[in-house]
Amino acid sequence: MTDAIRHTRLLIIGSGPAGYTAGVYASRAMLNPILVQGIQPGGQLTITTDVENWPGDASVMGPDLMVRMEHHAKEMGTEIISDHIMSLDLSVRPFRAVGDSGTTYTADAVILATGAQAKWLGLPSEEHFKGFGVSACATCDGFFYRGQEIVVVGGGNTAVEEALFLTNFASKVTLIHRRDSLRAEKIMQDRLFKNPKVAVLWNHEIDAVIGGDNPRGVEGVRAKHVETGEITEVPCKGFFVAIGHAPATELVKDQLELHNGGYVKVEPGTTRTSIPGVFAAGDLTDHVYRQAVTSAGMGCMAALDAEKWLAEHEADQTAAAAE
Ligand SMILES: Cc1cc2nc3c(=O)[nH]c(=O)nc-3n(C[C@H](O)[C@H](O)[C@H](O)COP(=O)(O)OP(=O)(O)OC[C@H]3O[C@@H](n4cnc5c(N)ncnc54)[C@H](O)[C@@H]3O)c2cc1C
Repeated sequence: MTDAIRHTRLLIIGSGPAGYTAGVYASRAMLNPILVQGIQPGGQLTITTDVENWPGDASVMGPDLMVRMEHHAKEMGTEIISDHIMSLDLSVRPFRAVGDSGTTYTADAVILATGAQAKWLGLPSEEHFKGFGVSACATCDGFFYRGQEIVVVGGGNTAVEEALFLTNFASKVTLIHRRDSLRAEKIMQDRLFKNPKVAVLWNHEIDAVIGGDNPRGVEGVRAKHVETGEITEVPCKGFFVAIGHAPATELVKDQLELHNGGYVKVEPGTTRTSIPGVFAAGDLTDHVYRQAVTSAGMGCMAALDAEKWLAEHEADQTAAAAE
């Protein structure tokens, strides 16, 4: 633990595509930014494998891409710090953030790029078997279920991507969705329906994860028909929850305006939040696109918005001091 105080003109919180891109642009604008990485250096792409939609790379491994982004930001002059911000006070100037390391960061402007986290169903049985057959990360845990049956719950891109990825390991993947159609992109749905290892159980919700305790492990899920209430038991050793993500707004939820179910609200076409000098970029603000490239684009916007705001703000302060 250290009790150091570090001041910076610009503090970037988060090390996903939004944070690192903000670092590149802010460094090239000579703002000497500090970027605090958080507990997931590189962000969500570090838990995936192939990324096929990052422009310039027909195929790149997510973790490799994030290492390259980190090097790029560092090379341009961003000071990258391995720490996690535990509290952030946006009611004082300069803004004040306290890291898990004990360091206090004071900053004239802040870019929030804390991204999003996986959502869970909230069932007690899901909680009971988390880490013992229940997972929200196919890349991390798929390998454990080689030759076994897997159930995935969800209906969006994440669920379809996870189900397809898991067919690399599983003997069978059952996708359970509470509606009668998927929200995932058409091309992804086509791939899913063509895969001989995949079955889809429509109009069912997960009622419970079932399993044993000696040793603790999943044996299946109990799924309930949304209209008839009829119960179907689907055997599986791995149960993957792929129902989307919640924005990581813990630091700011009582300080900034939020919308669309908890995402940080920014002025349309900008990254300006409800507090001047505080900018937000990436999945934290985006309930629609949630992509690496859109996050990186917003990181660029946030750095440019912050640079402009700092220049105006500092000019005002100089003028006021001269009066
Ligand atoms: C399995 C998976 C596969 C995906 N595949 C693709 C794909 O193929 N193509 C694509 O474009 N997108 C893909 N995505 C989506 C993409 O990863 C996200 O849209 C993108 O990473 C969002 O970037 P971000 O910078 O907003 O935040 P994130 O990547 O979510 O990063 C958030 C960062 O904030 C940090 N942080 C959080 N809280 C704090 C705190 N209190 N203090 C300090 N730091 C903090 C975290 O450590 C992390 O570094 C995928 C996502 C997942 C989960």
